[in-house]
Amino acid sequence: MDEIWVVSGTPGVGQIESYDSLLLSAAVLSQTMGAKLHNVVLAEKGAPREVPLLSSSHAETHAMAVMSNLSIETLCDSLAGMIAVQQSCLVLMSAGAWWNDLSCRLAASLGVDAITDCTGLASEDGASVILRAPIFGGRILCTSTVSEGIHVVSVRDTDEAHGAGLEQGLLDELPTSELVPSGRERVKMTNVTAIDSLLLGVEEADVVVAGGRGVKGLEGFAQLEELAKVLGGTVGGSRIAVDNRWVARERQIGQTGKTIRPKLYFACGISGSSHHVLGMKDSETVIAVNTDAGAPIFRVADAGVVGDFSEYVPALVEELGSRRKGDADV
Ligand SMILES: Cc1cc2nc3c(=O)[nH]c(=O)nc-3n(C[C@H](O)[C@H](O)[C@H](O)COP(=O)(O)OP(=O)(O)OC[C@H]3O[C@@H](n4cnc5c(N)ncnc54)[C@H](O)[C@@H]3O)c2cc1C
Repeated sequence: MDEIWVVSGTPGVGQIESYDSLLLSAAVLSQTMGAKLHNVVLAEKGAPREVPLLSSSHAETHAMAVMSNLSIETLCDSLAGMIAVQQSCLVLMSAGAWWNDLSCRLAASLGVDAITDCTGLASEDGASVILRAPIFGGRILCTSTVSEGIHVVSVRDTDEAHGAGLEQGLLDELPTSELVPSGRERVKMTNVTAIDSLLLGVEEADVVVAGGRGVKGLEGFAQLEELAKVLGGTVGGSRIAVDNRWVARERQIGQTGKTIRPKLYFACGISGSSHHVLGMKDSETVIAVNTDAGAPIFRVADAGVVGDFSEYVPALVEELGSRRKGDADV
């Protein structure tokens, strides 16, 4: 593999706020492989001037100014034009609905394969790349090895990505190309409407109220939904909750589910197994509610309630509701 291309964005592009983990994973991989690193930064109009970039000693960085109503077809055509001339390269981008859409379209345009939602990438021999990705709704962890040719890969936050290596760069000091509509656009965005927060994906919401086996069923999850609604968040669950069909599979948090970083994470009736914690440990604030004071979830919690969620959650909903009403009455 001669080259690694990383497609990242300014905060908010494709609903991702931070590309640090992706950039660092790419830097580590390129060093192991001795591969040349390119970074294309998609910059929306009005984006902050200062953005985290791979240091110039690591990578050639290039900004791509995108229109505010970003057309995925236009973007895909431009990227395909840049990458098609490569013989052998790995194209990396973040995972998430919008980015997975882009990675699959790009792979189809180039006539190559796409591997989405990778949770790990590494090279042992410096020539091929080993990719790990959960498949079949997270029930199986699939390991793929890719070597020659072009491969498009979307990557979730990976553990190997933590550490130093990024620097603040100024967008307007980068070589920039303007995206020009290709005329192939079939979708026109006419309006953006805020959706019910409960419909947000767990990786998109600022607040996630998650439940585990201790929530005991759909009735308990309805209580968690009430709390999520009051907080403008959404609901997630442990694998046990998902296996019991109390919450949808795409809302599973953990090693074989989603890796999330909400501002606020409630863990209700979740013991805090390592498999679960892997998916939520980077949440800004964690509040755990558990009847067992010795539950491991309390080790990663910023605040804890030792008690029954079915008493605590409705009481909190009522308290928050009455405070909101008080604020509105003033
Ligand atoms: C390869 C592999 C991958 C896995 N991937 C994942 C993954 O992605 N995500 C994931 O979550 N798990 C995953 N697991 C499963 C994981 O190991 C645990 O089994 C699972 O996380 C436990 O779920 P839980 O915390 O809901 O249940 P439990 O461990 O049974 O915990 C239930 C908790 O609820 C508490 N409780 C009971 N009643 C109440 C109440 N009324 N109020 C408050 N608290 C109460 C209990 O004290 C207990 O701590 C994986 C396992 C393997 C082997």
